[in-house]
Amino acid sequence: VDREIVIALTRKMLVDQPEKLTAVGVSFGGPVDFDRGGVRLSHHVPGWEEFPLRDALQSEFGVPTMVDNDANAGALGEWKYGAGQGCKSLLYMTVSTGVGGGWIINGEVYRGAQGMAGEIGHTIVDPNGPLCVCGRRGCVEVLACGPAIARRARERLEAEPNGGKILRELMLGDPSNVTAELVSRAAVNGDTLAEEVLVGAAADLGSGIGNALSLMNPQRVVLGGGVIKAGATYLAAVQRAAQGNTLPEIRAGIVAAALEDDAPLWGAVALAEGLMG
Ligand SMILES: [Zn+2]
Repeated sequence: VDREIVIALTRKMLVDQPEKLTAVGVSFGGPVDFDRGGVRLSHHVPGWEEFPLRDALQSEFGVPTMVDNDANAGALGEWKYGAGQGCKSLLYMTVSTGVGGGWIINGEVYRGAQGMAGEIGHTIVDPNGPLCVCGRRGCVEVLACGPAIARRARERLEAEPNGGKILRELMLGDPSNVTAELVSRAAVNGDTLAEEVLVGAAADLGSGIGNALSLMNPQRVVLGGGVIKAGATYLAAVQRAAQGNTLPEIRAGIVAAALEDDAPLWGAVALAEGLMG
């Protein structure tokens, strides 16, 4: 049914727009087999597993189509239209319900042998850390994504009955109300416990980024996703930890995404433009 909705929405858009359709670019929120243009897995929306999305759209609309995952598309979008303009190499990361990443190397998306390059969310920064969805312990994702920040805050609140006064007010007495956004709001309002949780998660994210910097030495790191909206203190803690976990000769500016949540959509535009020659 979702597939029919996508087709129907595209058809409606084409009726509203006088321009002729010449190419289609798609940013998909899950792992994609880039060479085949098919979806591998769909964690967030059911029914898309193993779906040949590129071929389906190509035969529906009769124009060349390209499909990539949203992290690669975000990297492409920020590189071409956002905070990565003018860079030869960059690492783009999205920090929200999960942690994803995409590489631009020498002015091109680097996808890797299985199209899995950029999975920085599942690099390990604490081998004794909490269990991750991937089955291993202490991945960047399980320590630094939005739900991880909420979990870390709940653990601290439970262990420290007198701490987190402002956060407790914001959660209205119910720990299940705690989200990363609430933690970041409490931190901005001067809640020490919330700020420590946020800085702790930022440090774990930064450790992972430090490893990536040592391996690839990119010119810039662009961070997107809801968690990044936590602000300057958070970003400074990420930068500090990243720099502390790589060699002193290695320097990369870590900046917030300029296109915010739309980076993958602009990446899809760039994919389509690439097909137009
Ligand atoms: Zn993992």
